[in-house]
Amino acid sequence: MDIEALRQDTPGCLNRVHLNNAGAGLLSRRTLHTMTAHLELEASIGGYEAAKQERSRIDATYEHIAELIGGRADEVALFDNSTHAWNAAFYSLTFQPGDRILTGRAEYGSNVLAYLQTAQRTGAEIVVVPDDAPGQTDTAALADLIDERTRLIGISHVPTSGGLVNPAEEIGRITRGAGVPFLLDATQSIGQFPVDVEALGCDMVTATGRKFLRGPRGTGFLWVRTQMLEHLDPFVNDIEAATWDGANGFIWHQGARRFASWEMSYANVLGLDAAVVQALELGMDRIGRRSIALGTHLRDRLDALPGVTTYDLGRDRCAIVTAKVEGLDTHDLAAVLARHDINVSTTVAEHTQFDTLHRGVHPLVRLSPHYYNTEAELDRTVEVIAEAARTA
Ligand SMILES: *Cc1c(COP(=O)(O)O)cnc(C)c1O
Repeated sequence: MDIEALRQDTPGCLNRVHLNNAGAGLLSRRTLHTMTAHLELEASIGGYEAAKQERSRIDATYEHIAELIGGRADEVALFDNSTHAWNAAFYSLTFQPGDRILTGRAEYGSNVLAYLQTAQRTGAEIVVVPDDAPGQTDTAALADLIDERTRLIGISHVPTSGGLVNPAEEIGRITRGAGVPFLLDATQSIGQFPVDVEALGCDMVTATGRKFLRGPRGTGFLWVRTQMLEHLDPFVNDIEAATWDGANGFIWHQGARRFASWEMSYANVLGLDAAVVQALELGMDRIGRRSIALGTHLRDRLDALPGVTTYDLGRDRCAIVTAKVEGLDTHDLAAVLARHDINVSTTVAEHTQFDTLHRGVHPLVRLSPHYYNTEAELDRTVEVIAEAARTA
């Protein structure tokens, strides 16, 4: 990878040390240009006419996403974020009193709220699978907990709150063996390192465009395995999702399109496509090796500083690094970094409820490099944190 060329192609790299890719990655010039060109086209010839003209490029987006994650194009539906994609899958499952939803401590805040609402509505139970010693979802405990009441396993691959990579492949092996649907929230992993739906054995996957994929804000997608469709009753209908049968009924469209809505931002869709194509060209293997190496570089150096502790769980850890400085409020540390033009974010206790109930460590400063960051940027960040720790 020619890091210098990639940085030249990323306007944000010129202004900031951007370590907030778990929040939103930086757009490349190519993605930005693709989007503005489509907006210009809409303004000059009309929105419907522009979509018609660009139809083949819009359609190619599904092919490219399928290539990225290993599924089929007709198993992909586009959304305006990952949460709506996840909701489309989750709320299309049906639950009876006593049914069980198994999830992990790392599960994302909105997913947990959806579980809580569904438990209230239907009498289903939420079971939080404990972690193993390194702090990832305990697969032996998961296997023991699965029984005839289990309707769903919902797992966050990488949490919003740290560098943990959950053992999704092993979880997929267990859920396949048990014949239980596996909904994987891959919002932080797709774009950061290779995610292959066949290798992971999941049935439904959700992702966002704006994080490690470097797509525009307001994009996301759902992938649903074809064999899973018969178990899902889409929870909303739409002229994109189904066709009127001419009398009193309707017919769902083939594939994942039945979850989609008719209207969408095609500038965003084409921007997402440009970002996915760029990831494919660079190669997810190479992207993953570098982003994880940068995460390790940063975590190791922060760990070595007196007064600084990192909090990332798991045996396999990724580019997300969470830390705290003794005697310094997390938001004050984030403000110090911001004064040095270093972009970070902070974890929110309410966004990972089960982790909060278990560890109670949030808020933490969250630093999330990506392949276009440099070791020099990370070392500068470590220096700022070292100084903050010295004077705390
Ligand atoms: C950010 C995040 C989401 C939500 O993605 P949106 O695109 O904001 O809806 C879901 N799950 C995880 C693990 C996340 O980090």
